[in-house]
Amino acid sequence: MTSASRLLSPESLRGKTAAVTGSTSGIGLAVAEALASAGCNVALSGLGDPAANEALRARLEADHGVKVTLNSGDLSKPAEVRAYIEDAIAAFGAVDILVNNAGVQHVSAVEDFPDDRWELILALNLSAAFYATKAALPGMKARGWGRIINIASAHGLVASPFKSAYVAAKHGLIGFTRTVALECAETGITCTAICPGYVNTPLVQGQIRDQAVAHNMSEDRVVREVILAAQPSKRFVEPAEIAATVLFLCSPAGASITGVPLSLDGGWTAR
Ligand code: NAD
Repeated sequence: MTSASRLLSPESLRGKTAAVTGSTSGIGLAVAEALASAGCNVALSGLGDPAANEALRARLEADHGVKVTLNSGDLSKPAEVRAYIEDAIAAFGAVDILVNNAGVQHVSAVEDFPDDRWELILALNLSAAFYATKAALPGMKARGWGRIINIASAHGLVASPFKSAYVAAKHGLIGFTRTVALECAETGITCTAICPGYVNTPLVQGQIRDQAVAHNMSEDRVVREVILAAQPSKRFVEPAEIAATVLFLCSPAGASITGVPLSLDGGWTAR
């Protein structure tokens, strides 16, 4: 019988390859760094300052002694998602772990919601996961092992007003997760969704600034009375907590966890 501590061994990830979308910032960066520290080669992706992203890529390689590539494609475009996965396979020979994390937010009432924001959020937060999974699955199936982890949200399980596109995309992402899990159930590939509550990242810092202006409140008050109002723990989830959950799901201990959303939300969805 396998011992529990062996199932948690980080050695099992050494030499595997991970593609983490949106990994130049926030949650994706914490996940990419954790996988690199466990010995995975990593295909980074993200927009933003190319020089800063290149410096990040070089630092991860130097700190963790693994190979790291950087893709600056716009993953709201299907062809650029396909190219990202194909380039990672060309560089490393495989994508064993796919973390679909890239996402954006827009907050507005439905009748005022800009059409282009709706299209972007659905394309990036939902459809990019489909295109990346479609491109990565054949190789995972050929090797008989894979982990597909979709960073959804508490908003994949419950709604809040003014976040129609985000809530729709994240609910859709959980449905997609369940379907992929069933299709892959006998193949050694698992597909799960992680559903964080509020995590203090640039994405949420933007919301704090916007809400402070909208409600004419200080940013501290917005954090206490608006942002963390739904989160019973009254503290932000740490990006490292999400990254540790990804490591757990990728370890042998995660082999039977598939088709489920895992909440890291300080009790938000327990209500
Ligand atoms: P973030 O803004 O810190 O990082 C987003 C990343 O996505 C960056 O690397 C950015 O460059 C990349 N990106 C944005 N648009 C892109 C595009 N068109 N093409 C390619 N890359 C693009 O955000 P975060 O808070 O770390 O969020 C990461 C994921 O976690 C998102 O899917 C988000 O919905 C989810 N999430 C966040 C929170 C939270 O409170 N921060 C809570 C629940 C779920």
